[in-house]
Amino acid sequence: MKEKIESILNKYNNDPSRLMDILLDIMENSGYVDEFSISVIAESLNISVAQVKETISFYHFFSEKPRAKYNIFLNNSITSCLRGFKEVKEAFETEAGTSFGNLTEDGLIGLYETSCIGMNDQGPAAIINDKIFTNLTPYRARKIINDIKAGKKLEELVYENHGDGNNAHPLMNTMVYNHIRKKSILLDENYEKFDVIKNELKNISPQELIQTIEDSNLRGRGGAGFPTGLKWKFGSRMPGEHRVIICNADEGEPGTFKDRVMLTQFNDLVFEGMVLAAYATKADIGVLYLRYEYKYMLNYLNSVLDDMRKENLLGEDISGIEGFKFDIRIQLGAGAYVCGEESALIESMEGKRGEPRDKPPFPVEKGYMDYPTIVNNVETLASAVKIAKNGAKWYNSFGTKDSLGTKLLSVSGDCRFPGIYEVEWGTSIREVLEMAGAHNVQAVQVGGPSGTLVNVKDIDNLSKTELMKWYKPSGMMTAQTAFDRKLSYSDLPTGGSIIIFNKDRDILREVVMNFMDFFIEESCGSCSTCRNLPRIMKEKLEKIINGHGVRDDIDDLLNWGKIIKLSRCGLGQTAANPILSSILNFRHLYEDHVMAMTDYDNQFDIVKSVSPANSFVGRKFIHNHS
Ligand code: SF4
Repeated sequence: MKEKIESILNKYNNDPSRLMDILLDIMENSGYVDEFSISVIAESLNISVAQVKETISFYHFFSEKPRAKYNIFLNNSITSCLRGFKEVKEAFETEAGTSFGNLTEDGLIGLYETSCIGMNDQGPAAIINDKIFTNLTPYRARKIINDIKAGKKLEELVYENHGDGNNAHPLMNTMVYNHIRKKSILLDENYEKFDVIKNELKNISPQELIQTIEDSNLRGRGGAGFPTGLKWKFGSRMPGEHRVIICNADEGEPGTFKDRVMLTQFNDLVFEGMVLAAYATKADIGVLYLRYEYKYMLNYLNSVLDDMRKENLLGEDISGIEGFKFDIRIQLGAGAYVCGEESALIESMEGKRGEPRDKPPFPVEKGYMDYPTIVNNVETLASAVKIAKNGAKWYNSFGTKDSLGTKLLSVSGDCRFPGIYEVEWGTSIREVLEMAGAHNVQAVQVGGPSGTLVNVKDIDNLSKTELMKWYKPSGMMTAQTAFDRKLSYSDLPTGGSIIIFNKDRDILREVVMNFMDFFIEESCGSCSTCRNLPRIMKEKLEKIINGHGVRDDIDDLLNWGKIIKLSRCGLGQTAANPILSSILNFRHLYEDHVMAMTDYDNQFDIVKSVSPANSFVGRKFIHNHS
């Protein structure tokens, strides 16, 4: 056992910053990281046992307790729930004979719930020992358990050989489908693999490349929208022994799966974008941070990088450009939504808990291992290639005045054609719904749980009484406007997640509660606001839904929503958004619940009620009953 651990440690040169990889390898070998392994790791890396344990405890896919031979991680995000999560879960539990969070007595099967695994267009889905199982039904869940019990191997459990495109590649071989529904300038076929590295780079200087990206007005596609050219320019000017390009492929926002498709089908474009960013900023270290949920792509993506090395598209003097040295490695995450935040991601890459750093300094000044670090989103890097090839002017001919180019949308929920849509910025929600074949729509969540819950109710069809009930003067948009709101940085900014809910959905009970559970689960726990308020707010919401709320409860929620915005990172700052956004755009639902409470006795006098008990124990009133 000790030799095995030592050989893993040697593989990573006993480097503490590679603790994530060391733990991932040990998990793969033993199924968990036991006390003995922890002590060997701590001693060899010259760090404390506590440091090893704090990293293990942070990530969903690490465990200090033994796991089963077959571990089933069933996704519990909202899109899964809309399509039968509850029934699938029950089928797993009944057939396995154990409940979620536990192993079967013989240690054969472990059942766990997990946050979004990026399969919202084909859920309910689960990861079983790194293999993805999509479109689960109770029948399929029962069959999987019975096949496991019958001694079948993991590969024999699949009910569909493989999906489309590169999903069928022998190194990937997964039942996942790309579901690309609409292509535009980024996803079109008009792309010659690595053409810009091979033929264009030698004709332009790094400064010219940065200028082109600046002129294109490309903004970060992860959601924050920071100007990419500016980020590259800052990065290129920072002093440092090394510079680092990180491609952030840790999309964990429920409803988002565009990076999955980009990395499956357009990985050459993404890697080419990383090389361009490296050329522009004179970076020599490249890392693709790949979320653990996409581990099934790892071997395939590594094979693409190997091919690039063979073609001299990575390595030394890339494509004959003297002194241009750059390589890319893939760093796997281990399951933590907050690692999508760039400084948390860097902490994770250094083998630590993925807790966001205080800023400044920003990663571009002091990032991975204190080197200047440029973190770009998958879609941003791919877009940079198209801009470098076709020019800023060409790119500026798409989109709107303040939001140029196109955007990849991950569309899921109640619609006929969930999948990836590449649309020009400025496309309205109405158009998206039409393309996706959505009918009877009640609401659309734009930008995942941290985004906006848009009410698409058509006011033209409302009676005057309904309208009066629904209308709130302050900040309330009209439904007609809502339906025509445009995806853009000035109206509805989005990282790309669009979840559709039809009129049969219970917005508060099903949707908002699910989103709050997500934030509660994913808080890193560092700030008291983010650690506590989502729980308290969820309890308050439950109280309202269950008919025990009063109007003051709605005000409390709004006030607490202001406090939580003081949290350190975007996760905490937006954790109350599901409630705040639904109060803003679905206030009538809250009002209905509050007004439905008819048995509330607002004359109830608590001091009077407890006075017999107080006299019995001899306690004096401390309440000034005026
Ligand atoms: Fe962690 Fe939440 Fe604070 Fe972010 S806001 S640092 S996720 S506790």
